[in-house]
Amino acid sequence: MIETRGLAFSYPQAPVLSFPDLVVPHGGTLLLRGPSGSGKSTWLALVAGLLTPASGEVVVAGQTVHTLAGAARDRWRARCLGFLPQKLFLSEALSVADNLALVFFAAGLPVDRGAIGRALSALDLSSLAERKPSQLSGGQAQRVALARALLLQPKVLLVDEPTASLDDEACAAALALLQRGAAEVGATLVISTHDARVVQALPAAQTLRLAREGVA
Ligand code: ADP
Ligand code: MG
Repeated sequence: MIETRGLAFSYPQAPVLSFPDLVVPHGGTLLLRGPSGSGKSTWLALVAGLLTPASGEVVVAGQTVHTLAGAARDRWRARCLGFLPQKLFLSEALSVADNLALVFFAAGLPVDRGAIGRALSALDLSSLAERKPSQLSGGQAQRVALARALLLQPKVLLVDEPTASLDDEACAAALALLQRGAAEVGATLVISTHDARVVQALPAAQTLRLAREGVA
């Protein structure tokens, strides 16, 4: 479950972005829509506790995010939240499998190689486990990042513009994987997009529409 109330944020020397109040039920799907610059990535970062709101609050699965400080917030994010950012942030120094192992370090948990193997296998990535990220296609790299996001069975899966650079077939495949992955771990799914194909593919999803200036 995600609930926001009176949520607003402003970058230094920039106008205030204010966001409409919202409740997404547990296991629901939200499409975060709006043109470039309307605040979609900022909204996701607020929900993930990567940014702290100027006012208002975000409650994720019963936890008021910004009341957690520093390391506790990082640990909470690592354990409860899956984040698939636009830029994937896979470490080139590490194999695919070890990129997934980092999740356990971030969460303060012992590395579970069995879980890593199962997460890779679920997304048909087992044969790529020892590759470096630069040895993957764009679609494979996105699947690795999805496997990483789902590894600890998050309560919420946040996905930022997953289809922007995909052709129609890859777009449909990516959306199917996101829905299946979220459903398998029982996560609430949030997808930010300005891609009409995503809206068409998920006609039943709840929608939050942001305006260009981010004004509610
Ligand atoms: P979207 O994801 O919908 O394209 P963003 O959340 O990235 O929108 O950006 C919302 C607004 O905040 C835009 O006007 C953008 O230029 C501005 N913005 C985003 N990140 C920063 C930043 N780090 N510093 C200053 N302004 C930013
Ligand atoms: Mg964005």
